[in-house]
This record gives sequence, structure tokens and C-alpha cells, in this order.
Amino acid sequence: MHPIHTPRSRHWDGSPHTQGRRRTLRVSADSPTRLLRTAQRAECRDCGNPIDFHPTLTRQTVPLHPTELPTAIVPAPHRWHVASGIARHAGDGTPWCRITHPTLCPAHTTPQLLPPALDTLRRRLALRTRRLLDAGAFTPGEHPAAEPSSEDACRPARPVVQLLYNRYIAARPVENIQCVAQTARRTRCTHPVLTPGTTPGKWTLTPTTLHPTHRQRSLPATAIALYDLGHLPHSEQRRWRTQHCTVHATAQSAPDLALTEWEPFDPLHHHAFLATRLPGTAQHHR
Ligand SMILES: [Zn+2]
Ligand SMILES: [Zn+2]
Repeated sequence: MHPIHTPRSRHWDGSPHTQGRRRTLRVSADSPTRLLRTAQRAECRDCGNPIDFHPTLTRQTVPLHPTELPTAIVPAPHRWHVASGIARHAGDGTPWCRITHPTLCPAHTTPQLLPPALDTLRRRLALRTRRLLDAGAFTPGEHPAAEPSSEDACRPARPVVQLLYNRYIAARPVENIQCVAQTARRTRCTHPVLTPGTTPGKWTLTPTTLHPTHRQRSLPATAIALYDLGHLPHSEQRRWRTQHCTVHATAQSAPDLALTEWEPFDPLHHHAFLATRLPGTAQHHR
């Protein structure tokens, strides 16, 4: 008869020592993204504190404070929870919940009075901002995507791009859009989506919206610079939309390490980024 538990089969605290098979991380078939990680870590550009960007059900992203908080100290309208990698704007009935970073961000005045426990946390974040500023490790408002290039003052920092019958606003200039796929070495692919030396898109000046809504009619009637990829083959437009380089365009087995950065274009919301002159054309410079 075999002994059921040899002394080696249990930990020091008596819990069974199971030799579970190692599981590799996989992209689940019903996942709305091809991300391996559930959150994208970034720093708030206004206060320098860490933020975890989580996708929501509507495929937008929400900036959450990286740690869970006791639900009891978070007012109900501010409760979020993350399930299967998706952030949902509600508590999940557990004693822990998440909160968005802007609710706590010390760089923004909080319009509502935060409960004392949250205000303590907010002040702790403010202290960290102070320390980062003193150490010269952080400059408020510094954001590489928002820096216009000196070589072409008309090149939009956030171009409006037409593809797959939609208009999107990119997070950075067209040439700087980076592939989101994971390489065999488990790092993010460094290739650009735009194949260097090619000019796949056409810059055109176009009305802000084709069918302005009542709300959008309040905008001045100016034409905006649009990077049009709509004439490319569908597969190429899909490659741009899924933000993959040519190597990863068809590599369906490669998971993504980052979320795509396209945002549905809204002329009112993105008004500050709109370019009204075509980039790279000297006659448009004064
Ligand atoms: Zn902040
Ligand atoms: Zn790639």
C-alpha cells in the first residue's frame, strides 16, 4: 500500500504540496482584446503617480488607481471592479473595490468632498508628486504624444485617420504608431505600423464631419487635415486598425502586449488636436 502523504507532500503549515502543471498565459477565445496582461501601467501626466489602464465593455479604457481599496471607504458612485480583465463601473459585492485615478489625482481639484479616508490617500499621492518633482524625475504635463515635431510644424501630434469607414484619432504621429504585438522574446514589438519609406495614406483637407449633428453644428466650419487610409485593401486597413506591423499582421498566434491607441474621432471632444493645414506642404506655411 502506498502512503497517501509522505512528509514531503505537505508544506510546513500542513497544506498539501501539489505539483500543479505549469500553465502558460493564453489569450482567451472570448476576450475582447488580445492582451496577455489585464492592465497597462502608465504614469499620470499631471501628477506622476502610477495608473492602470483597463479596458471596459465598450472597448474604451479607464484609468484606475493601481490598488484595491476597502469598499466601505469608497462612495458607491466611485466604485469600480475588474472582472476577467474588464473594468466595470460598480462594486462587485466584495469588501474591496477600485477607484479611478482622476478621482484621487492630486493635480486636479476634487469638486466633491472626498471622505476622509480617500482624502488621506489623495494627500499621500500629492506627497509622492512633490518628491518626484524635487528629484527632477517628473515634469507635469509632459507627454511625448503631445509634442509637435520641430521638423514639420504642421504635422499633427494626434492625426485624424480614416480607415474601415470610420474616423479615428491616433495617440501619436502616424510614423510613430508602434505595433502592439508580443515578440518571441516576450517584449513588445518595436516595429512601426507604417512600413518605413512608404506613404500608404493620403493627406486631405475635409469637413470636420460628414453629417454634423445638431451639437456639432456649433463648430466653426473649417476643414481639417485627415490621413486617409480608406483606399487600402481591407486587410491593410485591418492591420492598421489592430495596430500591427507587417510581420505581425497575419501572426494570429502572437498575443498583444498593449491596447491599440485609436480613439473614435469626435470633433468636439478632440477639437484641440485638429490640424487645419496639410502637413509637409511648404505653400501652407506662412
Ligand atoms: Zn494624477
Ligand atoms: Zn510587430
